[in-house]
Amino acid sequence: MEDFEIKNAIRKLEKKEEKKETPSKEEKYNRPSWDEYFLEIARMVGRRGTCGRGRNGAVLVKDKRILTTGYVGSPAGLNHCDEIGHLMHDVINTDGKISKHCIRTVHAEQNAIVQAALHGISTKGATLYVKFEPCFACAKMIINAGIKRVVCQKKYHAGQLTRNFFEDAGVEIVHVEDKVEDYPDQ
Ligand SMILES: [Zn+2]
Ligand SMILES: [Zn+2]
Repeated sequence: MEDFEIKNAIRKLEKKEEKKETPSKEEKYNRPSWDEYFLEIARMVGRRGTCGRGRNGAVLVKDKRILTTGYVGSPAGLNHCDEIGHLMHDVINTDGKISKHCIRTVHAEQNAIVQAALHGISTKGATLYVKFEPCFACAKMIINAGIKRVVCQKKYHAGQLTRNFFEDAGVEIVHVEDKVEDYPDQ
C-alpha cells in the first residue's frame, strides 16, 4: 500500500470513530419527559405555599404550554398559617375515623383554576400537574373546569373519593409514585 492510501484509510477510520462518539455522548444526558418537566415545576411552585400541611403545588398545562400555576395559601391579603397557625377542622368520616384538615387555605389546584378565571384563560382539555393527589373538593372543581388529565407525584391519604369521581367523569389520573404524601397530624 502506498503512503497516501494508508493515510486515507486512517482518515476514514477516524471519521467513523467521530460518528460513533457523537450519539453516545448524547445518550448519557437524561433529558426529562414532559411529565417530569412539569412535575418538577409543580414541586418548585409548591415551595411558595404558606401552610405546612403538604405544601402542594399545581401547574395547569395545555399543548405543552403552562397556563397558570398555584400553591397552597390563605385568600389574598389574609394572614398565613406559617405566621398565625393553622385553622384546623375535624371531619368524622362514615367509618368513624376522624381526619384533620386545615381549612384556612385555598388549595394549589383551586388557585391554578382561579388564576385562569382571573385572567380569562380556558382550562378546557388541560392537564394538571400536582405534587400530590387532589382532595375531594378540588377533584370536583377539576372535573367542572374541563381538565382531562391529572398527573400526581404521590397519593393523598384521603384520595379514594377523588379516584372514584375521576373514573366516573372520565378524567385520567396518573400516580408517578405509589406512595402517600406524609405530613404531621393527617
Ligand atoms: Zn394551614
Ligand atoms: Zn384540595
